[in-house]
Amino acid sequence: MIDQYGREITYLRLSVTERCQLRCTYCRADEGVCPKAEELSAEEFERIVRVMTRLGISKVRLTGGEPLLRKDILEIVARVGSLPDLKDLSMTTNAQMLAGKASALKSAGLRRLNISLDSLKPDVFRKMTGGDLQLVLDGIDEALAAGLVPLKINVVVVAGMNDGEIDDFIALTRSRPLDVRFIELMPIGDQGRNAGRRISNQDLLRERPYLQALPPRYPGQPSSDYQMPGYQGRVGFISPISHQFCADCNRIRVMSDGMLRPCLGVDRQISLKEALAGDDEGLLELIRRVIYEKPIGHAFQSCSGSERNMSRIGG
Ligand code: SAM
Repeated sequence: MIDQYGREITYLRLSVTERCQLRCTYCRADEGVCPKAEELSAEEFERIVRVMTRLGISKVRLTGGEPLLRKDILEIVARVGSLPDLKDLSMTTNAQMLAGKASALKSAGLRRLNISLDSLKPDVFRKMTGGDLQLVLDGIDEALAAGLVPLKINVVVVAGMNDGEIDDFIALTRSRPLDVRFIELMPIGDQGRNAGRRISNQDLLRERPYLQALPPRYPGQPSSDYQMPGYQGRVGFISPISHQFCADCNRIRVMSDGMLRPCLGVDRQISLKEALAGDDEGLLELIRRVIYEKPIGHAFQSCSGSERNMSRIGG
């Protein structure tokens, strides 16, 4: 459906849990998460998405927290993935638990994966995230073997941490169907910790004039895409700060506790829980209203950002 500013809203980010086993320095503020007991069920997620497809949502990305921490993740994928009007189902994961699950996810109906990977050096990776780099690398190999392609690797660039590894990440795109995307650090739930640590994507690009610009894979995609001549994968730059893309934003978010959030960067959200107790028509009307009133844009420039961190909202 079309919102009050004329944007067509087609894309849902569905956070299935706020729980995460990693502690990325720039992401998780010291706050509690929605307890497991309050997370919506696989059936409730399916119902919300089914109603949303009637309003034109055709793409869903499962996220969190860490979606693979849900014991019923295959059921969620299967239920949402089998909705007839859904064209694309993907997932964002830290890949700590991906090895051993990639082909089951694919068979359940998952089409594509985005994997977060902030460093190719085991010690830096552990320092930035608290996780194990080898598990991510194993997960990437399995995802490629399972056919979850194009596989996208998301790198949040943080000054003084991983900003010296840009070319190592670009080298990953040489011979496998992998896209690497550099994401600008956003002022979300960080209580000021991220201030001064953002590297502008415009600077990374200026330093690499040999990257060739490519047309977007699909309209309204958040990244500007490039390629190293002769390489197989793409290099994307997602620049919410230096190149705001709110005018083309086509997405809304549902959090694991049933809060519907029309904009990542504005702390305005409505609970769907009461409406879930009623019939589909009431649920549809509530969602229609929230989509229509989606804010014109985020407030990151003024640095007011969002109070909730990404692991709570669903990145
Ligand atoms: N656990 C999954 C993962 O790690 O991919 C999904 C959730 S995570 C919150 C989604 C993405 O948000 C990750 O790529 C993470 O690096 C990114 N992210 C978290 N906080 C961010 C921030 N302040 N600025 C930019 N990206 C952020």
